[in-house]
Amino acid sequence: MSTPYDEMWEKLNLDLDAHAGLLQVLGKFYGDIYMSQQGRLRGMEYLDFVLTEVHGLRIKELQDAKARGRKVIGTFCVFVPEEIVLAADGVQVGLCAGAEAGTDAAEKILPRSTCALIKSFVGFKLSRLCPYIESCDLVVGETTCDGKKKAYEIFADYAPVYVMEIPQMKNACDHDLWRAEVLRFKDRVEEVTGNTITVAKLREAIRLVNGRRRVLQRLNELRAASPAPISGRDALLVNQISFYDDPVRFTEKIGQLCDELEEQVKAGKGVAPKDAPRLMLSGCPMAVPNWKLPYIIESSGAVIVGEESCIGTRNTRDLVDENGQTMDELLNALVDRTMRIDCACFTPNTERLDNIVDMARGLKADGVVHYGLSFCTPYAMEAFKVEKALKSADIPMLAIETDYSMEDVEQLKTRVEAFVEMIR
Ligand code: SF4
Ligand code: SF4
Repeated sequence: MSTPYDEMWEKLNLDLDAHAGLLQVLGKFYGDIYMSQQGRLRGMEYLDFVLTEVHGLRIKELQDAKARGRKVIGTFCVFVPEEIVLAADGVQVGLCAGAEAGTDAAEKILPRSTCALIKSFVGFKLSRLCPYIESCDLVVGETTCDGKKKAYEIFADYAPVYVMEIPQMKNACDHDLWRAEVLRFKDRVEEVTGNTITVAKLREAIRLVNGRRRVLQRLNELRAASPAPISGRDALLVNQISFYDDPVRFTEKIGQLCDELEEQVKAGKGVAPKDAPRLMLSGCPMAVPNWKLPYIIESSGAVIVGEESCIGTRNTRDLVDENGQTMDELLNALVDRTMRIDCACFTPNTERLDNIVDMARGLKADGVVHYGLSFCTPYAMEAFKVEKALKSADIPMLAIETDYSMEDVEQLKTRVEAFVEMIR
């Protein structure tokens, strides 16, 4: 079946047949997991629209921006400072890496024992399935975990890759290293975009991204209400969309959604019964369309009230200080915020344990599901410490390790249902 976007996709050198197959699967998956929910609010129409047009209208917008001279920069990690890209009039997109399509191709050049997220971004590129990757003038990697670090060396044969060095500790010398990396990134972004970043432009970009973080903070706060005013699936989708939709439009639309949710909370209405077990997710990021575990959890009678992950509060908890008057002050503020990110790639990472306990208490979570992607050593190792910290706060935890395949759905259902029953 032809679509108005075929010509654009062809120009982007996508494999049109494989891409059509991917869209079909995505549409069906979205229908089953999202459209089947009862009584969704008006604000969800925005989510449905963005998702339906994820490879259509948004890609057209990117192509139009490129035709006007703007550059598109793709990223995989919340460490990459979007404010720098926006201040140079670039467009930043999070490259989703949440689907299994392309895994066979990826496994031809990567070990099978690689996490699904890495296989996904390599597989999407090799199989010519992702219009976002194909739109990028620069793809920014980072030295977070070993898997990603080495995969970018391979990925660089297929795409214009730039890698930022992320420190592994948080001492003064690590701040200095990261500051030097942010400066090096600024130079590279200026070179790619052909634009010089000024103090005024950087401050404006910081305010813009802070605005998006604030609206997501507001959404998270509303989820502390009982009954929960929004499903975990919808809240996850909001966070996922924040990585690739236009930041101004996103902030406005999610602000409207929050207004609606506030009304629901005042009226004592929610998406789940008041006594439904409230669970929090914690761990690896869940990129579009990785909705498997949230769907299983919410089909078992529980409701998800928060995501402690990079596609969740790890990316929105802290704001950048907007008051800097000089380039140095603004860059220092950017560095300070990112160095507060509690990714499991850091050692030690005790602040994550405190943050998880505080968040679970604040959201009145009855339990935590720790989600690790198979072969992700940092999060799998840290799960033991998370469980211990939660146990001393009397909050039960279930540790799940999985990937993007559907093979373990029944087994996961059994484990999640038993956990929910235990909490009940
Ligand atoms: S989990 Fe760590 S490596 Fe992954 S996006 Fe977050 S900060 Fe980056
Ligand atoms: S999920 Fe774990 S292994 Fe995979 S890219 Fe992220 S930190 Fe690395």
